Amino acid sequence: MSEFIKAVKSLEKVLIAERRDFHRHPEVGYNEIRTSGIVAKQLNDLGMQVRIGVGKTGVVGLLEGQQPGSNVLLRFDMDALPIQEENDVEYASQNDGVMHACGHDGHVAIGLCVARMLVAQSDKLKGSIKFVFQPAEEGGAGAAAMIKDGVLLNPRPDYVYGMHLWNERPVGWLGATDGNMMAGSCSWQCTVVGNGGHAAAPHYTNDPAVAAAQIVVGLQTVVSRKLPPSESAVVSVTQIHCGDTHNVIPAEANLAGTIRYFSDSAYETITNSVTRIVKDIASAMGCSANVTFNTGYRPVSNDSDAALLVREIAKRTQDVNMVSNDERTAVSEDFSEFMIDIPGCYFFVGSANSGSGLDYPHHHPRFNIDEHSLPIGATIMASIASNYVLE
Ligand SMILES: [Zn+2]
Ligand SMILES: [Zn+2]
Repeated sequence: MSEFIKAVKSLEKVLIAERRDFHRHPEVGYNEIRTSGIVAKQLNDLGMQVRIGVGKTGVVGLLEGQQPGSNVLLRFDMDALPIQEENDVEYASQNDGVMHACGHDGHVAIGLCVARMLVAQSDKLKGSIKFVFQPAEEGGAGAAAMIKDGVLLNPRPDYVYGMHLWNERPVGWLGATDGNMMAGSCSWQCTVVGNGGHAAAPHYTNDPAVAAAQIVVGLQTVVSRKLPPSESAVVSVTQIHCGDTHNVIPAEANLAGTIRYFSDSAYETITNSVTRIVKDIASAMGCSANVTFNTGYRPVSNDSDAALLVREIAKRTQDVNMVSNDERTAVSEDFSEFMIDIPGCYFFVGSANSGSGLDYPHHHPRFNIDEHSLPIGATIMASIASNYVLE
């Protein structure tokens, strides 16, 4: 570990410069052409076996030791968001309407720094490390695309680790929670079909607007009345579309929203309950309705031993002064795809600094991080891998 604290000091300038370079040139999901080109070249220059085009724009570098041993997968996501940056910094986005507003620029730079630190130790390496640079985390299912293209084969990882810079917490804070850490997500759409007519003669209609309004209220009871108090979940209505003018009762209303959950049983309870409420309320109002669910990312659930390892390493890492085992968020993340059958941990590295105005939330046009979080993230990632593959 001490070797990485020293190494990261000498690499810190490059780490920050690279993060700023990626920040200047953000690319949205599956368009990470420049970013993945730089990543592939750097990994190549470090002497790794490199695969490109894994999940369209993903890159995988394999660092192999002389002796057999475990394989550890380290994942760094690369994509930016379709947001116009409002930060007035020298390294602000040069791509109109695209911005690194989630911190993935920092993740890519950290990944390259970790690669350099571990390559420097490669004579002592037992086993191998897979450096995974993933496209399209922001809703594009980049992890699944990489898995489809074989990222979990040859060799199959024994452990998987990933991290997110986290502006909900100050720099110096680290969160690695046993079990559930991030929610699963699922969007839903519902169409209520009634019988429209003249707004002055509602008794000749079955008004889908009134049914839709009752459904919105009814859905508020799913989490509060159907889930045990120990479970947390979210059912949100985010769209209501109905009618075109003031004097016509429309024939149809459309609703949509999102569900967040932490367990398969909660998911089942919620979707069953939403379906029943939608159909039965519509029917009670003389309308009919159907609802469809589009499953998104699964919950991120950490292996307890892996989460403990991250917390132990964090406690020994310079500049980390708060280590948490109870951070949980309803935000979703497709790192969960890598964890389906492989133990691992996804953790948060605090990156906010309210004194410097660096505490805007993720996906905000003024989002920016305290760059002191970068060497912390790099040291911890390198130390995690070395725990398995360095003698
Ligand atoms: Zn994001
Ligand atoms: Zn993100």
